[in-house]
Amino acid sequence: ARLGRITKAETTCNYCAVGCRFELYGKDGDVLGVRPADPEATPANDFSTCVKGKFGYDFVNSDDRLTTPLIRDGDGFREASWAEAYDRIYEELTRIQTQHGTDSVAVTSSSKCTNEENFLNQKFARQVLKTPHVDNCARLCHSSTVAGLQQTVGYGAMTNRINEDIGETECYLITGSNTTEGHPVLATRIKQNVRDGADLFVFEPRKIGLAEHATQYTRTKPGSDIAWLNGMVRHIIDQDLHDTEFIDSRTKHFDELKEKVEPFTPERVEELAGVPPEELKRAAETIATADTCIFGWAMGMTQHAHGTRNVLAITNLALVTGHLGKPGAGLSPFRGQNNVQGGGGDMGPAPHNLPGYQDPTDDEIADKFAEVWGERPPQEVGLRLPEQYEAMLRGDIRGMYIMGENPVLSEPDISEAEEALEELEFLAVQDIFLTETAEYADVVLPAASNAEKYGTFTNTERRVQLVRPAIDPPGIARTDLEILCDLADRFGYEWDYDSAADVMDEIAELVPIYGGISYDRLESTPEGIQWPCTDADDPGTPYLYEERFNFDDGLARFVPADYAGPAELPDEEYPLMLTSGRVLYHWHTGTMTRRTQVSMDHVPESFVTIHPRMADQLGVEDGEYVRVVSRRGDIVVKAEVNDVADPGVVFIPMHFAEGAINELTQHELDPVSYIPEYKVSSVRIEPL
Ligand code: SF4
Repeated sequence: ARLGRITKAETTCNYCAVGCRFELYGKDGDVLGVRPADPEATPANDFSTCVKGKFGYDFVNSDDRLTTPLIRDGDGFREASWAEAYDRIYEELTRIQTQHGTDSVAVTSSSKCTNEENFLNQKFARQVLKTPHVDNCARLCHSSTVAGLQQTVGYGAMTNRINEDIGETECYLITGSNTTEGHPVLATRIKQNVRDGADLFVFEPRKIGLAEHATQYTRTKPGSDIAWLNGMVRHIIDQDLHDTEFIDSRTKHFDELKEKVEPFTPERVEELAGVPPEELKRAAETIATADTCIFGWAMGMTQHAHGTRNVLAITNLALVTGHLGKPGAGLSPFRGQNNVQGGGGDMGPAPHNLPGYQDPTDDEIADKFAEVWGERPPQEVGLRLPEQYEAMLRGDIRGMYIMGENPVLSEPDISEAEEALEELEFLAVQDIFLTETAEYADVVLPAASNAEKYGTFTNTERRVQLVRPAIDPPGIARTDLEILCDLADRFGYEWDYDSAADVMDEIAELVPIYGGISYDRLESTPEGIQWPCTDADDPGTPYLYEERFNFDDGLARFVPADYAGPAELPDEEYPLMLTSGRVLYHWHTGTMTRRTQVSMDHVPESFVTIHPRMADQLGVEDGEYVRVVSRRGDIVVKAEVNDVADPGVVFIPMHFAEGAINELTQHELDPVSYIPEYKVSSVRIEPL
């Protein structure tokens, strides 16, 4: 709607996956601000937004925005026309594929972008470039959640709703999530409900903000989660508190689980995880006897070389206690990026999944796609993101196309990622800023921000919601969707989409869980639609598994989780455990929030938290700069002395290019999901 020169759009937040809705105001090409939307239209935040949602929009107006295509010219870039940029991409990727084979190029997609853009990006990889090597940043955050939940309950997604279930449960187990800083509106919901009497158990290495509101805060050793989760299951069975009716009627393989958890006595759990037996028992007994419980987690659980097993372990606890398939209960992975559920998962920009988690090796599925696309997509499973970087170093992948991601900061072991990018013969990056990764590119394409385009995001509770533009893109920047259609055209493919709505129609045709979703419905359903939504009459699915789990026999599977600890343990040379996470004012690799005033005013630079006793021992004062050194590299950051973690554990946020934690983190991968072990590395601290 236009009010003079002020424009207004009802849209969805582009930061975290809570998916708050608000009105975004613009004027003369700049964003002016936001106002929370009508409560009826915004189930995730019917009372407020967090500070990022409300004030975090300066980046859209930044003078750093890319406004025109750029082509490498010596050590720098020169401005180019769209036609010249597209020609260069076409010529270089075609040359590489002719010389080295179709599999010598890879495509990276982004959970920051819309569902429609991610769908088209994987289609560009599979149909146009014919490469199976397409992946996205979800590999690095919750791929182990998806892998674990698909094995046990069927869908790789949150089972429940935010307001009606997380907001109204009787009990919480929150672990591996600094919810107050990572998902602020969700944390507010939890705190409100705890004030009204719900029990909250927080199991974390760091005494995070939510711990202040907890019935019980239990400090765990980093990377020890399987031990205490198995220990809880054992204690519940030992005390005969498990839900036998649920187990007998809705699950299988309980006896295998029972046998596998037997060694996890409270004493052994204390030894492995540092959890006092009385705290383990109290939490287990309260969870087992509550009518409903929500199990919430984020990357503190997933980013481990045993991340999938962590997810199996927490799922086993939910199944043993019967806290699934009913209101107020559920498994709640708190997804990170705005659209990681939809864009990073559901839309299939992944080497082992076509859109809708469909198997590319299945002939029937391949034929279904061929009917719409005119040809089968590649049927082999491609390389996962970390494997792609190894292939780049070997010279097996020589060309890359990246949409909206910044691997120079987000890959583990940055030096290795930079070396891999340097080895490429050609790199194209499509983004809103000249990111640290775009600096390595041969062609840079200027993209529209989420304030400047139509599309949909799917939030962490599987809710598909509209994104609408409040302003136009700067200069001659184009939306990611337009760019991908133009590129497909340059490669000789006629993609016949007039709008994002047309792309959603194709998604609905090919992806059964989105089968009933269309823009017509979304325009008249401001609260969005939760998948699975299989046809136009299906209202969507607020919570999963009311009657059946997503397997042919309808039964959930207990999959025991063997214990594994951190891949790298402290030693004499590197005596401290380093862990990572978010801060409230910043987001991911900081490309947006490092260009946002309120974020930089509050947290202008990276830091390392050090326990006062360790700081004394090292001779480090609060506010002094220190060098943090691991086997991979070293960084200089400011010391923040506090007792949030044990003396042996230090913490660095993940948002900063200067003092980038991934100079230090390791490449060790989970064998199932291929997620790297970001959460635990061994380091030493040297005073400067
Ligand atoms: Fe945006 Fe998340 Fe904050 Fe909501 S809680 S306003 S979705 S960053």
